[in-house]
Amino acid sequence: MDNAMADTNITVIGAGVTGLTTAFLLSKNKRNKITLVAKFMPGDFDIEYTSPWAGANFLPMGAEGSDQARYETNTWPWLSNLAKNHPEAGIHFQQCKLHTLAKDIGARGSLFAESRDKLPWWKDVVPDFVSSVGSDGSIHYSFTSVCINIAIYLPWLLSKCLEEGVNIRRGVIGFVTDAADLHHNGKADIVINCTGLQSRKLGGVEDKSLVAVRGQTVLVRNDGGPMFGISSIDNGGREYEGSYSMTRAAGGGTILGGTFDPTNESPIPDLNIAVRIMEHAVKLNPHLTGGTGKIDDLDIVRHGVGLRPLRPQGPRVGEVDVIRGVQVVHSYGHGSWGYQGSMGSAKEIERVVAQIEQQKKTAGKVLSKL
Ligand SMILES: Cc1cc2nc3c(=O)[nH]c(=O)nc-3n(C[C@H](O)[C@H](O)[C@H](O)COP(=O)(O)OP(=O)(O)OC[C@H]3O[C@@H](n4cnc5c(N)ncnc54)[C@H](O)[C@@H]3O)c2cc1C
Repeated sequence: MDNAMADTNITVIGAGVTGLTTAFLLSKNKRNKITLVAKFMPGDFDIEYTSPWAGANFLPMGAEGSDQARYETNTWPWLSNLAKNHPEAGIHFQQCKLHTLAKDIGARGSLFAESRDKLPWWKDVVPDFVSSVGSDGSIHYSFTSVCINIAIYLPWLLSKCLEEGVNIRRGVIGFVTDAADLHHNGKADIVINCTGLQSRKLGGVEDKSLVAVRGQTVLVRNDGGPMFGISSIDNGGREYEGSYSMTRAAGGGTILGGTFDPTNESPIPDLNIAVRIMEHAVKLNPHLTGGTGKIDDLDIVRHGVGLRPLRPQGPRVGEVDVIRGVQVVHSYGHGSWGYQGSMGSAKEIERVVAQIEQQKKTAGKVLSKL
């Protein structure tokens, strides 16, 4: 029997940032023959499709030493290279200013300051990291991040997949392994599940631990200047509301946020929330309106609602199930960090796929000796 690696037929389910990045990375190995199938594609807006609603920036959130932190760390070189060398991807560098109020120090996880003495683990991942302490005891981080214009980046990823020969098709999968039969060569050896929050419903997966964390935003034409985030706002005890803004590359407008609400899945923008988002934004980020502080000076493009696919116990990246004889590799549950962990997650899937191929090759050798 020939010991050379045979081609591997792979179906990727999902055309969000996770599925597109995974399909693209796997397609670089020409032995992988890839079909990508999805219900929603770049250009669509739907509550079942999270990726078009993101900001999106790079701001590590994984706990130090966690898999998530590794995926985020391994994504920065990809995003920064695109920002530096590929303007057509719609990503630019942006200074990020993060403020942790004295009362919130240690209370908001690794995103905001955990203590006065300890700098975040990701300070050496991003360039230009500087920390300072305000006279009121607040802590200020400044560093270089990126902001992704998702309206450019998702189609760009799709077209990179096409360039590499990925076969793209629309389809709604009821049971996860049905995707194997949609492969353009007839049958996939491996199915990669990148269905985000919809893994709650996908037959054969039905992961009930996934939580939808609702994020409401307002996209405005105003230039928001540097990226801005604050650990908490004076919001009358509304615990799921905060304030952040980021200016997208290439005329993408400025995203004002937002909410982090695990108790509400409404796809309809709540206008009371929208007004509060805008009021806090103009107050905390004077750059937006030249300091007038009036929300009437904001020029709205659209209101948005997306559902972040949070898996409280951690994402499911690279776990393998054998279902009805098909190897199913999962990559879902990226919560608030799907973009900033996208290439790191894809690399993990690439590693697992190579492992499966190696196991097949070894099994083939054993059989040939019998
Ligand atoms: C307001 C907001 C701001 C955010 N900001 C950031 C940020 O700044 N940085 C960051 O890194 N992340 C951010 N995120 C998080 C990020 O958007 C998500 O983690 C990411 O988009 C998840 O992508 P995904 O590809 O896993 O899922 P999705 O984008 O939801 O894609 C799922 C895909 O699977 C397909 N699918 C699902 N079920 C089926 C089925 N049965 N059959 C066929 N196809 C199916 C869908 O059609 C879709 O194509 C933000 C999210 C929100 C809501």
